[in-house]
Amino acid sequence: MLYKDTNAPQVTLTPNKGFINFTTPITVSIKDAQSGIKAVKIVLTQGKKKTTLTEKILPKGTFDYNQEILLTKDQIKQGHFEVAAWAVDSSLAGFGSGNAFIARGNYTLDTIAPRITVQTTSHNLTQGGCALVIYSLNETPAKSGVEVGEDFFPGYKQPNGEYACLFAMPFYSNVKKYNPRLMVEDAAKNIRTSTFWYHTNARKYRHDTINISDRFLSTKMPQFEASFPGVSNQVELFLRVNRELRIKNRAELRKIGLDTSPTFTFEGKFLRLPNSAAKAGFGDQRTYMHNGKKIDHQTHLGIDLASTRHAPVPAANNGRIVVAAHNFGIYGNAVIIDHGLGLQTLYSHLSQIDVAIGDTVKRGQIIGKTGVTGMAGGDHLHFGVLCSGIPVNPYEWWDGTWIKNNITRKLEQPSN
Ligand SMILES: [Zn+2]
Repeated sequence: MLYKDTNAPQVTLTPNKGFINFTTPITVSIKDAQSGIKAVKIVLTQGKKKTTLTEKILPKGTFDYNQEILLTKDQIKQGHFEVAAWAVDSSLAGFGSGNAFIARGNYTLDTIAPRITVQTTSHNLTQGGCALVIYSLNETPAKSGVEVGEDFFPGYKQPNGEYACLFAMPFYSNVKKYNPRLMVEDAAKNIRTSTFWYHTNARKYRHDTINISDRFLSTKMPQFEASFPGVSNQVELFLRVNRELRIKNRAELRKIGLDTSPTFTFEGKFLRLPNSAAKAGFGDQRTYMHNGKKIDHQTHLGIDLASTRHAPVPAANNGRIVVAAHNFGIYGNAVIIDHGLGLQTLYSHLSQIDVAIGDTVKRGQIIGKTGVTGMAGGDHLHFGVLCSGIPVNPYEWWDGTWIKNNITRKLEQPSN
């Protein structure tokens, strides 16, 4: 009953358009569910030059045909080209010649990675801190920024056409192995990396012991029971929250870090909670004890500021609210303000939130009140600074001189 097949074979090209280099395959996929595929022809056209890549008759009963095309230097040069894939099936339709179908893809061959010119000369980093690098590119990238091991800090295009990337020397960096590199990738997936001068300083972290009392467990753990169903032992639940929920919350921060303005919105140094004492510091190595026994170890990645109970919390600087959440895991009620280029401030354990997502806030504007929500024993503000979602040392951002020397001066230079 071959004559009843009136459907042409389905021919698809993946991708079917865009930038291609010699390592990007174009996949030709042909299906004919009814009478089978009789013949295939694939032709590459660039200007007046036509190259037949494939021309063959297929064995009877071929219903699926897939071919991966990797172009080679002798077939094609930089610029525009077309691939056309033609298939005919074995039906008697069309006066015995079969049903035919052609798929065409329009592409641009680009095998040259963008060039990077680093504009800033000094990049001083302290473990747990930040630096800014300015660079220019000779073409619009698909992606550019600084790679630090597994971490990627995106760069953002500035009004003058250059790119600025705020990157960190994460608290977990090994000072000897730390090796930031600029990376750029274009639409054809050509990648170039570039080194730049930097200087690193190690940092010593404080050690701290936290006693987890049964009272703490019985007041704090019930709110997390729903997240870990079936865990009835309070210490075990504490450990699951302190380890697993903490890791999950950090991964969320990485995503939130991409919800950022391409230019900085802050002005001057960052504000600190007024009349507050620092109860715990950035990078504190915390050992958790229960009934005289070590049960856990974590790094504290913000600064705990204690003032009066339910103290009003000012926005540390101008920005846009990207998180205003009533149950943000270990952070409890939390607000995150974006200040541009992946720089964000985190306010957690709040008792009250006075802002909503999308609000623009001014430096000093009250965003909520301190409290004990989430994993907090007493009323305090856990203040964090994030660089593309990685917690960094707030002290740099509380220091107007540091900001001027390391950040804003680099953006003001007339040569840039
Ligand atoms: Zn804290």
